[in-house]
Amino acid sequence: MIDFRSDTVTRPTQAMLQAMQNAKVGDDVFGDDPSINELQRVAAQMFGMEAALFCPSGTMTNQIAINVHTKPGDEVICEENSHVYLYEGGGIAKNSGCSVRLLKGQKGQITAQQVEEAIRADDQHFPKSRLVSLENTSNKGGGTCYSISALEEIKAVCEKHNLGFHLDGARLFNAMVQTGQNAKKYGELFDSISICLSKGLGCPVGSLLLGTNTFIYHARRTRKVFGGGMRQSGYLAAAGLYALENHIERLKIDHENAAILANSLRKCSLVETVIEPETNIVVAHVANSRAVDSILEILKSKGILAVRFGADSIRFVTHLDLSAQDIEQACRIIEGL
Ligand SMILES: *Cc1c(COP(=O)(O)O)cnc(C)c1O
Repeated sequence: MIDFRSDTVTRPTQAMLQAMQNAKVGDDVFGDDPSINELQRVAAQMFGMEAALFCPSGTMTNQIAINVHTKPGDEVICEENSHVYLYEGGGIAKNSGCSVRLLKGQKGQITAQQVEEAIRADDQHFPKSRLVSLENTSNKGGGTCYSISALEEIKAVCEKHNLGFHLDGARLFNAMVQTGQNAKKYGELFDSISICLSKGLGCPVGSLLLGTNTFIYHARRTRKVFGGGMRQSGYLAAAGLYALENHIERLKIDHENAAILANSLRKCSLVETVIEPETNIVVAHVANSRAVDSILEILKSKGILAVRFGADSIRFVTHLDLSAQDIEQACRIIEGL
């Protein structure tokens, strides 16, 4: 099967497994795991932030961040299709007792003006606007990247109104590699950043939350409450350290493959339009919802897996486990449909 369902389907390479096998470990709840401590140090340093915290998933790093930034009754401002709102099981309400102010974005991105207009007046009737959460790249937007200037404008609004500024950077490395943006710049812009090791970077498990020492102190307490305190997790950290060293630059290959795939999808008679991919996500619009199901069936029968992406779209994601040959074969099949 040529599996385009997600960049989470990758399996660790031999070299990554070797690094995991050789990991020095300890009990991380006691703060004793040298590999975890090293991963957290390396990641924090990379972004020029004070501290980092390893967690089992990106959902957990996002939910912990929201929990630390807010109090029950506060309001979180985010895009209407953002992962923190749409794909985390209502966690903002369930875990943190917050309401959500949803903004309609362009390809998953919101503007400083929209944020400014969404901030509640200081009035006892209203929830208290407390946090802005952005997503880069945007999953539902089709792997789109924010410009630094757009982020700076939103940050200025957050500072003016004393709002926290969180980044769901599950695919931040895709954005940085594609645009040439700098990790330290992101560290300056945001109060907290979540990055996934288990997406394009090819680790089996893991995400990191970055922030100040005080923020991460509180995040560690919340992680324990959420059940995310792990013991000899250094085996997973070793995969993360390996990925940060070896799997960032190669994301360019995934982006090239996404562009090649998008071209083939445009030649496919069953596809109406294809959004020009910016990174490793390709979104193809088809005639209607029934067409989505039937095309996914046909693709599957020919050895290609993809997923439904809303009412009339299909998402393909390129990743580490898809070779040039896989892409070539998939393109041949897609063009012949
Ligand atoms: C995958 C993803 C996450 C985190 O997902 P987990 O499966 O919980 O690790 C968060 N945000 C975005 C945008 C994602 O695509």
